[in-house]
Amino acid sequence: MNPLPAFKRRFAHGIHPDELTEQTVHLPIQRVPFVNQYILPLGQHLGAPAKSIVKVGERVQRGQLIAEPGAFVSTALHSPVTGWVRAIEPRRYPGEKLQAVIEIEADPYATQRLEPKASINWSSLSQDEFVKHVQQAGIVGMGGAAFPSHVKYVLPDGLHIKHLVINGAECEPYLTNDHRLMLERPDTVLQGVEMVRQKLGAEQATIGVEMNKADAIDILQKQVKHQQYQHIDIIPLRVKYPQGAEKMLIQSIFGVEVPTGQLPRDIGVTVNNVGTIVAIADYFETGMPLIERIVTVSGPGVEHPANLIVPLGTPVREVLRFCGGLKQTTREVIMGGPMMGTPIASLDVPILKGSSGILAFTAAQTSKPKEYPCIHCGRCVEACPHFLNPSRLARLAKVSEYEEMAEYYAMDCVECGACTFSCPSGIPIVQLIKVGKMEIRKAKVVAASK
Ligand code: SF4
Ligand code: SF4
Repeated sequence: MNPLPAFKRRFAHGIHPDELTEQTVHLPIQRVPFVNQYILPLGQHLGAPAKSIVKVGERVQRGQLIAEPGAFVSTALHSPVTGWVRAIEPRRYPGEKLQAVIEIEADPYATQRLEPKASINWSSLSQDEFVKHVQQAGIVGMGGAAFPSHVKYVLPDGLHIKHLVINGAECEPYLTNDHRLMLERPDTVLQGVEMVRQKLGAEQATIGVEMNKADAIDILQKQVKHQQYQHIDIIPLRVKYPQGAEKMLIQSIFGVEVPTGQLPRDIGVTVNNVGTIVAIADYFETGMPLIERIVTVSGPGVEHPANLIVPLGTPVREVLRFCGGLKQTTREVIMGGPMMGTPIASLDVPILKGSSGILAFTAAQTSKPKEYPCIHCGRCVEACPHFLNPSRLARLAKVSEYEEMAEYYAMDCVECGACTFSCPSGIPIVQLIKVGKMEIRKAKVVAASK
């Protein structure tokens, strides 16, 4: 499978929202200072929650393991600071879900230096050992999905990965953390790509980057040439949302569709986000597990937008304080991008492994449009990259016809929000579909338990 020539690279449908990256795209990544308190939910990744292995009152070091993976589809969790465990209890954040968290109070007199560790000779590791290392390092998909990364590196018998695809599309408006990462650490990006490519036994790796990041494309292409990475291509992509969705990215690069109900690996492809790749490279180079991440803080409601390295567990309130706080006109704060992110109910919510952005919006962006009846214009159908009929799915969700929703492939919906964005009647299509999908999942669990 070879990448398509440039003029053919595209996926069908999709939308073109304003990019709105001008507030942060030129801002180098900087580190936020340590604060007093860190909140670490045990279930901040997809799959089973991690299991705490520390006790209240225990002293912990920065980077120390504090929770073991709870199952195969689960990852470890490490302390982002040196300090003391102050609580292990169920709490109601992030969102409204009650779940166990570990609260750590930072030691104000600790240097917060990471214990120096020797780099890990990844090339001598077996495939199984590599997978275990990635799981124990707590690494998840950093693009927002927070899916445990090691799971993608375990292949059922008979499957072989031919192509590693790196998602450098960063197609959500406002977000620029992946862009800055590619600009500021191109060497680490390429080292990580080569590492994962070799461990997967993939013949070729392709980094897909949207053309609005011309400087990142340029620097990566130069490094690939300079360092003679023969098995890595840098592929410029036309700007379109949701190009960062795995199946869309594959379609844009290769012109191949991943069939419904199948995963990229079924056609010999593994997709990783650029941030994930850097987290893996950093872990094998320095021994540092996933204890911090890059977050874009932006939007019209924030005083000083920034791209920041934030220790996991830092309360959003502290990150915003570092950015000069919120403007008085702010009405809503969103975790993630504006298309797929979620509004947060409290600024005490902590930064999680999947938190790519904190966006503050004023009334101008948050006023909900008045909802009118569907005028059957078909714009949502034209926008849907998965060729679904969002209007029909939303209608079925409204009347609780969940079985029929499933028959119309509701579970293929990636919740990108392109349909809602396009709807002139202001119908909250994706929100309705999300409710329907939840009910379909519940019904499956009930059926399986009988
Ligand atoms: S139906 Fe789902 S996949 Fe299709 S546009 Fe709407 S949110 Fe995206
Ligand atoms: S875009 Fe809105 S109004 Fe148009 S068909 Fe879809 S749901 Fe109906």
